[in-house]
Amino acid sequence: LFVVFEGGDRVGKSTQVAALAAALAVSGVDHVVTHEPGDTEVGRRIRAMLLDPASRLDDRCEALLYAADKAQHIHEVVAPALAAGGVVVCDRYIDSMLAYQGAGRDLAADDLEAIAAWATRGLRPDLTVLLDADPSKAVARIVDKDRLEGAGDEFHARVREGFLRLAAAHPERYLVCEALTSLNGIAAT
Ligand code: C5P
Repeated sequence: LFVVFEGGDRVGKSTQVAALAAALAVSGVDHVVTHEPGDTEVGRRIRAMLLDPASRLDDRCEALLYAADKAQHIHEVVAPALAAGGVVVCDRYIDSMLAYQGAGRDLAADDLEAIAAWATRGLRPDLTVLLDADPSKAVARIVDKDRLEGAGDEFHARVREGFLRLAAAHPERYLVCEALTSLNGIAAT
Protein backbone atom coordinates (compact mmCIF):
# COMPACT_ATOMS: atom_id res chain seq x y z
CA LEU A 1 0.00 0.00 0.00
CA PHE A 2 1.43 3.33 -1.11
CA VAL A 3 0.17 6.33 0.89
CA VAL A 4 1.24 9.86 0.00
CA PHE A 5 0.80 13.09 1.96
CA GLU A 6 0.59 16.25 -0.12
CA GLY A 7 0.07 19.92 0.58
CA GLY A 8 1.66 23.33 0.54
CA ASP A 9 4.62 24.42 2.61
CA ARG A 10 4.33 24.13 6.40
CA VAL A 11 0.86 22.66 6.53
CA GLY A 12 1.99 19.97 8.97
CA LYS A 13 2.70 17.05 6.64
CA SER A 14 5.63 15.69 8.62
CA THR A 15 3.56 15.73 11.83
CA GLN A 16 0.75 13.76 10.22
CA VAL A 17 3.18 11.36 8.52
CA ALA A 18 4.74 10.69 11.93
CA ALA A 19 1.29 10.17 13.48
CA LEU A 20 0.34 7.61 10.82
CA ALA A 21 3.71 5.86 11.20
CA ALA A 22 3.18 5.65 14.96
CA ALA A 23 -0.30 4.18 14.45
CA LEU A 24 1.08 1.60 11.98
CA ALA A 25 3.84 0.68 14.44
CA VAL A 26 1.32 0.18 17.24
CA SER A 27 -0.70 -2.08 14.94
CA GLY A 28 2.42 -4.05 14.01
CA VAL A 29 2.20 -3.13 10.31
CA ASP A 30 5.48 -3.22 8.36
CA HIS A 31 6.06 0.25 6.97
CA VAL A 32 8.61 2.65 5.55
CA VAL A 33 8.39 6.41 6.03
CA THR A 34 10.05 8.48 3.37
CA HIS A 35 9.95 11.88 1.68
CA GLU A 36 10.68 13.73 -1.53
CA PRO A 37 12.85 15.41 -2.49
CA GLY A 38 15.99 14.01 -0.95
CA ASP A 39 15.62 10.61 0.68
CA THR A 40 18.43 8.84 -1.19
CA GLU A 41 22.12 9.63 -1.43
CA VAL A 42 21.79 11.23 -4.85
CA GLY A 43 18.46 12.72 -3.78
CA ARG A 44 20.17 14.63 -0.98
CA ARG A 45 22.52 16.18 -3.52
CA ILE A 46 19.61 17.00 -5.84
CA ARG A 47 17.70 18.55 -2.93
CA ALA A 48 20.66 20.75 -2.08
CA MET A 49 20.76 21.99 -5.68
CA LEU A 50 17.02 22.56 -5.71
CA LEU A 51 16.97 24.60 -2.53
CA ASP A 52 20.13 26.65 -3.13
CA PRO A 53 19.27 30.14 -4.45
CA ALA A 54 22.68 30.17 -6.14
CA SER A 55 21.43 27.47 -8.56
CA ARG A 56 19.22 30.09 -10.29
CA LEU A 57 17.22 27.21 -11.74
CA ASP A 58 15.33 27.40 -14.96
CA ASP A 59 11.76 26.09 -14.39
CA ARG A 60 12.30 23.10 -16.67
CA CYS A 61 15.61 22.24 -15.09
CA GLU A 62 13.88 22.39 -11.71
CA ALA A 63 11.12 20.03 -12.90
CA LEU A 64 13.68 17.58 -14.29
CA LEU A 65 15.63 17.59 -11.02
CA TYR A 66 12.44 16.74 -9.10
CA ALA A 67 11.79 13.97 -11.62
CA ALA A 68 15.35 12.65 -11.25
CA ASP A 69 14.96 12.57 -7.49
CA LYS A 70 11.74 10.57 -7.93
CA ALA A 71 13.34 8.03 -10.27
CA GLN A 72 16.07 7.22 -7.78
CA HIS A 73 13.66 7.29 -4.85
CA ILE A 74 11.28 4.79 -6.46
CA HIS A 75 14.15 2.56 -7.52
CA GLU A 76 15.98 2.60 -4.20
CA VAL A 77 13.31 3.04 -1.53
CA VAL A 78 9.66 2.84 -2.57
CA ALA A 79 9.55 -0.07 -5.03
CA PRO A 80 11.63 -2.44 -2.86
CA ALA A 81 9.49 -1.67 0.21
CA LEU A 82 6.26 -2.25 -1.71
CA ALA A 83 7.66 -5.45 -3.23
CA ALA A 84 8.42 -6.68 0.30
CA GLY A 85 4.74 -6.21 1.10
CA GLY A 86 5.06 -3.20 3.40
CA VAL A 87 3.17 0.05 3.59
CA VAL A 88 5.05 3.06 2.22
CA VAL A 89 4.15 6.46 3.66
CA CYS A 90 5.65 9.22 1.53
CA ASP A 91 5.78 12.93 2.23
CA ARG A 92 5.21 14.49 -1.26
CA TYR A 93 5.10 12.73 -4.64
CA ILE A 94 4.06 13.42 -8.24
CA ASP A 95 1.21 15.76 -7.34
CA SER A 96 3.67 18.13 -5.68
CA MET A 97 5.36 18.42 -9.06
CA LEU A 98 2.03 19.12 -10.75
CA ALA A 99 1.08 21.70 -8.12
CA TYR A 100 4.44 23.51 -7.72
CA GLN A 101 6.03 23.21 -11.16
CA GLY A 102 2.66 23.02 -12.98
CA ALA A 103 0.19 25.34 -11.26
CA GLY A 104 2.91 27.33 -9.48
CA ARG A 105 5.50 27.78 -12.22
CA ASP A 106 3.09 27.41 -15.11
CA LEU A 107 4.71 24.45 -16.90
CA ALA A 108 2.28 22.34 -18.95
CA ALA A 109 0.56 19.68 -16.85
CA ASP A 110 0.65 17.12 -19.69
CA ASP A 111 4.43 17.42 -20.00
CA LEU A 112 4.92 17.10 -16.24
CA GLU A 113 2.57 14.10 -16.08
CA ALA A 114 4.53 12.37 -18.84
CA ILE A 115 7.92 13.12 -17.26
CA ALA A 116 6.75 12.03 -13.81
CA ALA A 117 5.10 8.84 -15.11
CA TRP A 118 8.31 7.92 -16.92
CA ALA A 119 10.53 8.71 -13.94
CA THR A 120 8.37 6.70 -11.54
CA ARG A 121 7.74 3.80 -13.93
CA GLY A 122 4.05 4.59 -13.69
CA LEU A 123 3.80 3.95 -9.96
CA ARG A 124 0.74 5.72 -8.53
CA PRO A 125 -0.28 6.09 -4.89
CA ASP A 126 -3.21 4.06 -3.56
CA LEU A 127 -4.17 6.94 -1.30
CA THR A 128 -3.22 10.63 -1.38
CA VAL A 129 -3.94 12.67 1.74
CA LEU A 130 -4.07 16.38 0.94
CA LEU A 131 -3.51 18.66 3.91
CA ASP A 132 -5.19 21.82 2.77
CA ALA A 133 -4.64 25.21 4.39
CA ASP A 134 -4.77 28.87 3.55
CA PRO A 135 -1.15 29.55 2.52
CA SER A 136 -1.09 32.85 4.42
CA LYS A 137 -1.64 30.90 7.64
CA ALA A 138 0.84 28.18 6.70
CA VAL A 139 3.46 30.58 5.42
CA ALA A 140 3.20 32.55 8.65
CA ARG A 141 4.73 29.51 10.35
CA ILE A 142 7.87 29.64 8.23
CA VAL A 143 10.97 30.16 10.28
CA ASP A 144 13.78 29.50 7.85
CA LYS A 145 13.59 30.96 4.36
CA ASP A 146 14.89 28.84 1.54
CA ARG A 147 14.54 29.62 -2.13
CA LEU A 148 10.93 28.58 -2.50
CA GLU A 149 9.48 29.76 0.68
CA GLY A 150 10.34 33.25 -0.38
CA ALA A 151 8.26 32.65 -3.52
CA GLY A 152 5.36 34.91 -2.58
CA ASP A 153 1.66 34.70 -1.76
CA GLU A 154 0.41 34.35 -5.31
CA PHE A 155 2.70 31.43 -5.99
CA HIS A 156 1.53 29.60 -2.88
CA ALA A 157 -2.11 30.36 -3.69
CA ARG A 158 -1.65 28.83 -7.16
CA VAL A 159 -0.01 25.76 -5.60
CA ARG A 160 -2.96 25.33 -3.24
CA GLU A 161 -5.45 25.63 -6.11
CA GLY A 162 -3.39 23.13 -8.07
CA PHE A 163 -3.64 20.57 -5.28
CA LEU A 164 -7.39 21.15 -4.86
CA ARG A 165 -7.93 20.66 -8.60
CA LEU A 166 -5.99 17.39 -8.49
CA ALA A 167 -8.08 16.22 -5.53
CA ALA A 168 -11.29 17.08 -7.40
CA ALA A 169 -10.04 15.24 -10.50
CA HIS A 170 -9.06 12.08 -8.58
CA PRO A 171 -11.64 11.58 -5.83
CA GLU A 172 -11.01 7.81 -5.89
CA ARG A 173 -7.57 8.22 -4.33
CA TYR A 174 -7.78 11.60 -2.55
CA LEU A 175 -8.64 12.37 1.04
CA VAL A 176 -8.72 16.14 1.66
CA CYS A 177 -8.20 17.27 5.24
CA GLU A 178 -8.31 20.74 6.66
CA ALA A 179 -4.80 21.36 7.98
CA LEU A 180 -3.59 23.57 10.82
CA THR A 181 -6.85 23.15 12.72
CA SER A 182 -6.46 19.95 14.69
CA LEU A 183 -3.14 18.14 14.84
CA ASN A 184 -4.94 14.94 15.74
CA GLY A 185 -7.51 15.08 12.97
CA ILE A 186 -6.02 12.41 10.74
CA ALA A 187 -4.49 10.19 13.37
CA ALA A 188 -7.91 9.86 14.98
CA THR A 189 -9.68 8.66 11.81
O1 C5P B 1 8.48 19.19 1.64
P1 C5P B 1 9.81 19.83 1.79
O2 C5P B 1 9.83 20.94 2.80
O3 C5P B 1 10.90 18.84 2.03
O4 C5P B 1 10.13 20.50 0.38
C1 C5P B 1 11.27 21.31 0.21
C2 C5P B 1 10.92 22.52 -0.63
O5 C5P B 1 10.72 22.14 -1.98
C3 C5P B 1 9.66 23.22 -0.17
O6 C5P B 1 9.88 24.62 -0.17
C4 C5P B 1 8.66 22.82 -1.23
O7 C5P B 1 7.69 23.79 -1.38
C5 C5P B 1 9.52 22.67 -2.47
N1 C5P B 1 8.99 21.78 -3.50
C6 C5P B 1 8.76 22.26 -4.80
N2 C5P B 1 8.33 21.42 -5.77
C7 C5P B 1 8.11 20.12 -5.51
C8 C5P B 1 8.34 19.61 -4.21
C9 C5P B 1 8.78 20.48 -3.23
O8 C5P B 1 8.93 23.44 -5.06
N3 C5P B 1 7.72 19.33 -6.51
